[in-house]
Amino acid sequence: MRNEEGLRIQKIESGTVIDHITAGYALDVLRILNIDGKEGHVVSVAMNVRSDKMGRKDIVKIENRELRQEEVDKIALLAPRATINIIRDYGVAQKTRVKLPEVIRDIIRCDNPVCISNAKEPAEPRFYVVSTGPLLLRCHYCGREMGREEILKQFSS
Ligand SMILES: [Zn+2]
Repeated sequence: MRNEEGLRIQKIESGTVIDHITAGYALDVLRILNIDGKEGHVVSVAMNVRSDKMGRKDIVKIENRELRQEEVDKIALLAPRATINIIRDYGVAQKTRVKLPEVIRDIIRCDNPVCISNAKEPAEPRFYVVSTGPLLLRCHYCGREMGREEILKQFSS
């Protein structure tokens, strides 16, 4: 059987493969992870790859870098169907599907400057997921709603 994806991106020895990213979101995923190539890791991006499950999908491979749980949680904000494969010695050592929690804590800040979560002694930021497609979060404290663009802005380097 012909493995088209395999042909597009070579296997890596160790690192992370983020698969099943919503088509067109690969660069946003890299941005939210603060990966811009300056770290020196080899990063491969495939966009609009054919997928049985999703029609089209994006794939990101980062060599010699394993994602931390808080980074995985951030990916869920943009690509709720993504799967994270940790690769060691050319094999999948660990495979997890991202999961967007119902309540999001501490990953993002509220856009409202007078929100109590932005006060001098701030309350821990807390958001409820109103919708995942398109993404919409609502602040627990002030009710400010934030969409994908506002969230992405916080991660621009
Ligand atoms: Zn707020």
